Amino acid sequence: MPAKATNHIDDEITGLDYFLPEEKMPTKKERDDIIGFYQFFSLFPDEAAAIKFVEDSIWGEFPRCGRCLSFNVYRKENGKPMSHRCRPCRRNFSVRTGTTMAETNLPLHKWLLAIHRMLSSRKGVSALQLQKELEVSYPTAWFLCHRIREAMREDREIMSGIFEIDESWFGPHRNRQHANKRPPLGTDWKEGKVAVIGLRRKSDGKVIAFPVPNTFAETLHKAVTDNVEPGSYVQSDGEMAYRSLPYLGYLHDFVSHSAGEYVRDQVTTNGIESFWALLKRAYVGTFHFMSWKHLHRYVNEATFRNNIGPGNGPRTMAQVLRCMVDRRLTYKELIGDLGVEEVEEEMEEI
Ligand SMILES: [Zn+2]
Repeated sequence: MPAKATNHIDDEITGLDYFLPEEKMPTKKERDDIIGFYQFFSLFPDEAAAIKFVEDSIWGEFPRCGRCLSFNVYRKENGKPMSHRCRPCRRNFSVRTGTTMAETNLPLHKWLLAIHRMLSSRKGVSALQLQKELEVSYPTAWFLCHRIREAMREDREIMSGIFEIDESWFGPHRNRQHANKRPPLGTDWKEGKVAVIGLRRKSDGKVIAFPVPNTFAETLHKAVTDNVEPGSYVQSDGEMAYRSLPYLGYLHDFVSHSAGEYVRDQVTTNGIESFWALLKRAYVGTFHFMSWKHLHRYVNEATFRNNIGPGNGPRTMAQVLRCMVDRRLTYKELIGDLGVEEVEEEMEEI
């Protein structure tokens, strides 16, 4: 008979066979993977701890070349900055090679702190704030934030279930105008603003959101047909375009906001509206200015944070790190066809 574990109880009176729990149950914070500043620095006291964590998160037990994906590699003695060498490639590499973190000299400790800060703050953290916290230059902090946002970009897959759909307009300063000075509805007020469409699955709160060039019926329909399985149930506000969704094979219901109706028999768009509320507060309170070219990146960040849950600890950070594999964003791509002046202008606005 195999030896029983010491915590095994065979109760002669009740006849029950059970194990005492070996460790105490995890707290809600531990389950949700939430850590504070102190814990961050005790987990990652220095660059060596950060490198080990990034290697464990991306490679696991087996280091792998970021170029040819070969496992035929070895760790170099005192290899800095490239810790490993690939035999087939005959080139040196590190855990950054082939990831969003490639081609930067920024210590991984600072990358980790930036990821932790971006996950911690529900309304996001501005590049200006990170510049101070990480003790780096403003352009470095700005570029760093955008590269982490690139890692947070989720690949969209077609979903099924019950959804809320809504669109929201993001734009400069006009939304802070006094009501009686605002251009009348439907004419001018949308000018200079960008519409973002959001879909929220009711069962798990998963959100997908993306900027669109306009809100013509065709665009709104495409947002649904591209992302939602036909036969799903879509709930919206009274917007006319959505009312033809049944012709496209969807079940549809709406609440009429113009008539003051927000919830009717579990039909509501309040969930996606809360998502907009958070994104708008990030816009006004944290970033002050999101350039149109980069709006989708801020939206990606907000949806990622919404979808991944409240965690900001090692488990969630490791997930972000794994998303960096095979994903690049060069400074040139980021700036794209924006001129240097426009980028400087954006930086000054913040
Ligand atoms: Zn290789």
